[in-house]
Amino acid sequence: MKSLLVRFFLFSLVIAACSIAVTAWLASQATTGAIRQEQGDVLETDAQIFDELVRHAATHEDWTDAKSAVDGIAQKYGRRIALTDGNGTTLVDTGGENAPQLPITPKALVDPLNVNGKIDPRAVGPFKLNDEEYRTLYAYADQLLQCNNRITLVEAPNGRPRLPDLGPGELSIWEDCPVGNRLYTLTVTEKAAYGQLQALFSKCLDQRGWSGRNYGKSLTPTTFDWEITTVDGAPPEVVACMDSSRREQLRPHVAAPAQLFLTSPTGDEPMAIDLSTTGATRITLVALGILALAGFASWLTATQLVRPIRALTAATKRTAEGDRTARVDGGSGEIGELARSFNAMSEKLAETERQRQAMVSDVAHELRTPLGNITGWLEATQDGLAEPDPHLIDMLLEESLLLQRLVDDLHDLAQADAGTLRLHPEPIALDDVVDQVVNAQQNREILLRAETTPVHVTADPVRLRQALGNLVANAVRYTPPGGEVVVKLFRWQDEAVLEVTDTGTGIAPDDVPHVFDRFWRADKSRSRRTGGSGLGLAITRHLVEAHGGTVSVTSTLGEGSTFRISLPA
Ligand code: ADP
Repeated sequence: MKSLLVRFFLFSLVIAACSIAVTAWLASQATTGAIRQEQGDVLETDAQIFDELVRHAATHEDWTDAKSAVDGIAQKYGRRIALTDGNGTTLVDTGGENAPQLPITPKALVDPLNVNGKIDPRAVGPFKLNDEEYRTLYAYADQLLQCNNRITLVEAPNGRPRLPDLGPGELSIWEDCPVGNRLYTLTVTEKAAYGQLQALFSKCLDQRGWSGRNYGKSLTPTTFDWEITTVDGAPPEVVACMDSSRREQLRPHVAAPAQLFLTSPTGDEPMAIDLSTTGATRITLVALGILALAGFASWLTATQLVRPIRALTAATKRTAEGDRTARVDGGSGEIGELARSFNAMSEKLAETERQRQAMVSDVAHELRTPLGNITGWLEATQDGLAEPDPHLIDMLLEESLLLQRLVDDLHDLAQADAGTLRLHPEPIALDDVVDQVVNAQQNREILLRAETTPVHVTADPVRLRQALGNLVANAVRYTPPGGEVVVKLFRWQDEAVLEVTDTGTGIAPDDVPHVFDRFWRADKSRSRRTGGSGLGLAITRHLVEAHGGTVSVTSTLGEGSTFRISLPA
C-alpha cells in the first residue's frame, strides 16, 4: 500500500463506487416514484371511465345507441374502450377497424346493478319522475326556499329535489312552511314504483317463509334519502330478498352487464417498468460497467501522474551517484514545478563543483610561485650559489609572509563559505576606523586623505578595518604616483556609507561584474608581488554582507574607481 499509484487508484475507485451507488439509488428512487405516480394516474383515469360507463348503463335500457357517448368518454381520457356481452360479442369498440385484438381478460364488468356488490344509485328505473311531476316538485321546492332561505336542496337520482341528510325529527322545520309536506309527498310515479317493489319484496319473503313481518317498513319512505333498504337489524336473508327484488325491478330499465376492456389507443397496455430483480440486476450491471470505466480512467490518470515522479526518482539516484547531467522533463503543474526545481538544483550542484575545482587549481597556482621562489633560493644557498645574507633572508621572509597572507585569506573565505565567520559586534565610531585605515596605508607617492562625519554603528571593528583596508590597499595599488585616494564617510538615509575613490587605472566595463570573484584579476600577468592574491575583494564582500551591508563599484577605465560600502546604521 506504499505505492502512490496504488493508493491513488484505490482512492478514486472508492470515490467512483460511492458516487455510482448513490446516483443509481437516487435514480431508481426517482423512477419508482414517477412510475407509481403514472400508474396511479392510469388507475384514476380507468376508475373515471368505469364510473361514466356505469352511469350510462344505469340510465339506458341497452347499449345500442352507446357508441357516440362511449366515443366521447374514450376521447376525453385518451383510451380505447371496448365493451362485450357475456358471449364475447362486441357491443361497443372505440378502436377503429385496424385496432389490434383486445386483451384476454376484461378490466371490469360494467353492471349498474352490481358495482362492488351494490346497486348504483343512478339506476332509478320506474322511480324516475315524469316531466310534470318534476316541474310540480320544483315549484314546491321554490316555495320552500322562499319560506326558509337557510336550507339548500339537492336532487335525488330520480329527479326529486330534497333536503340533504334530513333526519325524521327535523321535518318540523316546515311547521312554519307547510309547503314542505307537499314537497315530501310521493308522486304517482314513485307510489307505483314503491308498490311494485313492495309486491316483489313480499313475494320473495313469502317464498322464503318470512312473510307476515313488516321488514319492508322503510318502503313507505319518510326520509327520502334514496337508500331503499329493509329495517335496521333485518336478518341477512331479508336483506338479500330486498336486493334481489330491487334488481328484478330495475333490470329491464338498465343496460345489460358488459365486459369492459381498456387499452391505449394503439392497443397495447402502457409499459410498466420493472424494478424488481431483473431491474435491480440491470442497474447493478450498468453500475459495474461504469465502475470498470472509472477504474480504467483513474488507472490511466494515476500512471500519467506517477510517470514523472518515477523519472524524478531515477534522476535523483543518478545525481546521488555523482552524475551532474541528470535532468528531468517536467511538463506543467506541481510535478513540473518539482522537476524544474530539481533541474535548477542539479545545475547549481554542477556549478558548485566547477567552482570547487577551479578554486583548488587557483589555490595550487597561487601557492606555486612563492613556494617555487623559496625552494629555488634555498637550493641555490645549499649548493653554495647564493649567500644566506640579510638581503636573501629578507626576500625569503617576504615570500613566506605572502604565503601566510594567502593562507589567512583562504581561511577567512572558507569560514565565510561554511558560515562560521565569527563577528564580534560592538558600538563603534566609524570615523575612527577610517582614520586608522588611512593612517596605516599612508604612502609618499599618493595623496591619501579622509573626509568623515561622525557616524556610529554596531559592527566588528577588526573585520570592518579588514574590509575597508582591502579597498584602500587596492586604490593605492592601482593608482599611479601623484594620484589621489579619498575615503569618505557619511550617512545616507538609514545607512552608513564608506566610499573609496581613486584616480587610478579604473576597470573596464566588461570586468566590473567580476571584480568580486575569487582569484579574479584584470591583469592576469600581475604576480602576487605586484598585485594582490585576487581574494581581497571577495573577502571584503563576505565581511560586509556578514554585517548586513552591501558593497558595490563604479569605475571608468583610465579615470578611476569608486568602491562603496553601505552598512545599516
Ligand atoms: P588583488 O589582490 O589582485 O587586488 P582583489 O580581489 O583585491 O585582488 O581585486 C581584484 C581585481 O580587481 C584586481 O586584480 C584589479 O584588477 C581589480 N581592482 C581592484 N580594485 C581596483 C581599483 N581600485 N582600481 C582598478 N582596479 C581594481
